[in-house]
Order: sequence, then C-alpha cells, then structure tokens
Amino acid sequence: MKQKLEIWVFGDYRNYFQNRVTLQLIGKAVELAKEIKATVCAVVIGHELDEWIGEYIAHGARRVYVVEDPVLKEYDAATYAFLTARLAEVHKPDILLVGATSFGREFAPRVAKRLKTGLTADCVGLAIDQDSLLVQTAPSFGGNLLADIVTPKQRPQMATVRPGIFREIPHNYEAKGKIIRMPLPIDLSSRRLRLRKSERQPHQSKKLEDAAIVICSGRGIGSRKKFNNLYELAGLTDAEVGATRPLVYAGWAGHDSLVGQAGKIIRPKILFSFGVSGAIQHTAAVNDAEFIIAVNKNPKATMMKMADVAIVADAGQVCSALIRELKKRIR
Ligand SMILES: Cc1cc2nc3c(=O)[nH]c(=O)nc-3n(C[C@H](O)[C@H](O)[C@H](O)COP(=O)(O)OP(=O)(O)OC[C@H]3O[C@@H](n4cnc5c(N)ncnc54)[C@H](O)[C@@H]3O)c2cc1C
Repeated sequence: MKQKLEIWVFGDYRNYFQNRVTLQLIGKAVELAKEIKATVCAVVIGHELDEWIGEYIAHGARRVYVVEDPVLKEYDAATYAFLTARLAEVHKPDILLVGATSFGREFAPRVAKRLKTGLTADCVGLAIDQDSLLVQTAPSFGGNLLADIVTPKQRPQMATVRPGIFREIPHNYEAKGKIIRMPLPIDLSSRRLRLRKSERQPHQSKKLEDAAIVICSGRGIGSRKKFNNLYELAGLTDAEVGATRPLVYAGWAGHDSLVGQAGKIIRPKILFSFGVSGAIQHTAAVNDAEFIIAVNKNPKATMMKMADVAIVADAGQVCSALIRELKKRIR
C-alpha cells in the first residue's frame, strides 16, 4: 500500500512565546496537506519536550517525530541537522518546512545538503501546483522580483519561511496526534561543538512579528539618544521597536529589530513610523499593517503616502511629546 504523503515542520521552540513561526508553518501545512492529502507532522529535537509536542499537536500536527535526550538540551545546528536528516531518510517526508529564524537559516541548508535536495530560502509564499508540487515563492534580484520555485524530483521539497507570513491555527485542547520517537543513533558525547555559555542580548526585540503595536524608526529620528527614547514610548504603549537598515548598520538597533526584506515582516494593528522614507525593501514588510501613523519632515516621502495619518514634523519632537502626554494620562 502506498504510504500517505507527509509534510514536516521543524519545531523551533526557542523563545516560544515570541517566536511563533513553527505554529504559523503548521497552520500553512494543514492548508497545503488538504490539497495533496498529506499528514502534517512536526519534528521536535531536544530535552524535556512534552510541552512542545503537546503544543504542536494542539495547533494542527497529527504526527510528531521526537528525538529526546539530555545531550540535546542546547540548540546545535549541526547535530539537529544530522538527526533531522536521519529521520527524513527513514520516514521520507514529501515536504520539509523550517522557520527562517537565525537558527533555521543555519540548520536548513545542512539538512538539504545531507538529503541531497534543494532548498528555497526565505520564502514569502507557499502553494501547491497542478502537478502537486510545492511552489515556493521567494524574493530574488534584491527583492525586485518574486520567483516561484519548484523541486520536481528531489525529496523532500524544502523551504525556509519568514516569521509572520502565515497565521497559526488556534489552540485546540481536544486535538490528538501520534508520537514517534527515534533513539539517538550515535553517541554525541564527542561532538565538536559545545555551548559553554549563553547570554540574552539587551534591547533585543524578539516579538516584532507578533506585536499589535510596532514603533518603527528610520534615519530621520536623528540620533542614537532619540532612538533610545522610542523604547520609553514602547514601554508606555506596550509596543515593540523596529528599525530600518541604516539604524541597524549604525549599531543603534540589533539585527533582530530590522524590518524589511532583509529582516522581519510585520503585521501590527498600529504601526508608528518615525523618520522612515519608505524604500521598497522596507515597505514590502509593513504592507499588512492595519493602521499606519507616519511622522516625517517630508510630506512627499513614500511612507507618508502609505500612512493613514501623516504628521509633517520632527520625529524626535513628536516622540517626546507623546511620551509626555502618555505619562500625564497614566498618572
Ligand atoms: C538588497 C537590499 C536589502 C535591503 N533591505 C532592507 C531592509 O530589510 N530594511 C530596510 O529598512 N532597508 C533595507 N534596505 C535599505 C533601503 O533601500 C533603504 O535604504 C532604507 O530602508 C532607508 O532607511 P530610512 O528610511 O531610515 O532612511 P532614509 O531613506 O535616509 O530616510 C530618512 C527619512 O527621514 C526623514 N527625516 C529626516 N529628518 C527628519 C526629522 N528630523 N524628522 C522626521 N523625519 C525626518 C527624511 O525625510 C526621510 O524620509 C535594503 C537595501 C538593499 C539594496
């Protein structure tokens, strides 16, 4: 009997409450699976995994492949890629999706190499075509074109997908799934790479993709000090802070805060845009914001034209005025 096709989603559960890309991919996989009559599966590797296994089932996975051992406690791209490739060689998924997180970007090419298959990186769309192939849509030529890529022969068809593109399915406590465990195939005690210490980066915006309010700043904010004031405004409005590329290059913001083609795609209910010109590489990632308030000295800036409310003013001054007013109201 021909085995049912499987769509696998790699379970990236680090920073779980901020990083929802695995759940978003499971949600999309459920949609794709209907078209090719496939089973949606998650792959979970690590230590003490019950919580994540339960979450993935509750969000749509019908089968979960698990490799669990204390030596797998720390995320390690090489080891996780080796184990995922092992699982794939045995169970032969048709499709394997990975979140384009910093880890996913390091991990997925290693898995593809081991499985001798292709990989489309940083996809912004996925669909099934008339031949039941996965159409992987990814920006190319510096973001000026979107390319539809298929993998006609090699399996699995592999793609990394940016966080924030697809929507997760709401948690269903009644959902049931099958758990398949694989024992560690080799002794990993002599691994070449060991994590000695890890530290959280200060000011790192972890949940831009999921934030209901985002305050995004561009070069027009004027100085690092004024940019840092935005964090105070963010604290008062329960917002997350994002930045354009020049600010990341200047070292005012971490790469995790970059909004745009080379960074994160956001879809907040409210986007405050301070001193942002609106280059295509940036606006492509904010198109889905429901309501945009832009502040810019130049009324003709693209961002001002996109905005629902466009304020022609100095970005730093508007930020300070908002902080003052909000503090008065909170008191
Ligand atoms: C391959 C590639 C990938 C890229 N990826 C990204 C990406 O992911 N994200 C990204 O952001 N960019 C990206 N870029 C860069 C992008 O093209 C733009 O250069 C960048 O977005 C511009 O940032 P900005 O709006 O902060 O600066 P600018 O374009 O310099 O705009 C500054 C704005 O501030 C306004 N301003 C000036 N003074 C004030 C003031 N006092 N008060 C209010 N407003 C003021 C100006 O009128 C202007 O509109 C990419 C470029 C390339 C080639």
